[in-house]
Order: sequence, then C-alpha cells, then structure tokens
Amino acid sequence: MSTKNLIYNRMQLSIAVIGTDKSDATFLGHVAEADWPARWARVKKAIFKGTSCGAYIEPILDCTEGLGVAVGSIVEGVDWGTDTHCLHYPFKESELWAALEKVEAEAHEIWESTHGCDECGEPDEYNGGHIHINPECPSCHGEGVII
Ligand SMILES: [Zn+2]
Repeated sequence: MSTKNLIYNRMQLSIAVIGTDKSDATFLGHVAEADWPARWARVKKAIFKGTSCGAYIEPILDCTEGLGVAVGSIVEGVDWGTDTHCLHYPFKESELWAALEKVEAEAHEIWESTHGCDECGEPDEYNGGHIHINPECPSCHGEGVII
C-alpha cells in the first residue's frame, strides 16, 4: 500500500471542496453551499480512490459535538476497521491529510496482522484466528492474500 494516489488526488479534492477559495483555514467549511451535494460526492470519490485502503469520509451531524467530518476505513476480510477520526468545522486542510495518513497506517497494520497466507505461519488465536503476514514468506512474498 502507498499514498501516492492520495497525493495525486489531493489536487482534485482541493478543487472539489475549495473551488476557487484556496484558504487553508476555511477548508471544508462551506457545508451550506448550494452545490454541496455535488461537491460532497466528488470528495467521497476522491478520498476512496485516492487512498490505498479505500477510506471513507462521512459527515458528522451531531450538534452537541459540532458539525464536521469523520474518516476511517474498513479492512476487507476482517470484522474490524480503523479508528474513526473526527474533524470538527472549521479545520485546516492539513488536519484532514494527517487524519487520512493515520487511517492508511492503521489499515496497513490491520492488513499486515491478518492477511498472511497458509505459508506465512500459524493462525493467531489472540487475533481472531488470523495469520500474520511473514515478510520473508516464500509463497506470498510478504504481500499477504485476500481473505
Ligand atoms: Zn505468505
């Protein structure tokens, strides 16, 4: 997994969300704009396609905590995912990227600890019976397998 696509997609995402306003401090601060649904669809797509783990972004509509967005990722084949990282308006663009970097790292860690092939080692009963990836595995070459 890598974040190279994410880096590429940052430009698309910035355009989708910010439009012509490049002010970092107001990033994602225009939820009430008339064209928000269309922008939101582009944001979701850019984040899903731009992250190795296929991260999601959802609106936070809880008024006690304040409006904002939550990012995270499910991991195919296991019953748990990354932490959900919440950002409340207004937040800086850099805070969103930092949260997505954490999601990528967490998803990668989950993958590494659960997607080993039969040659990687024995199932770990303390880890849902999943097999840790062995980076030296001669069968999957440390890539792991889809489960
Ligand atoms: Zn293996």
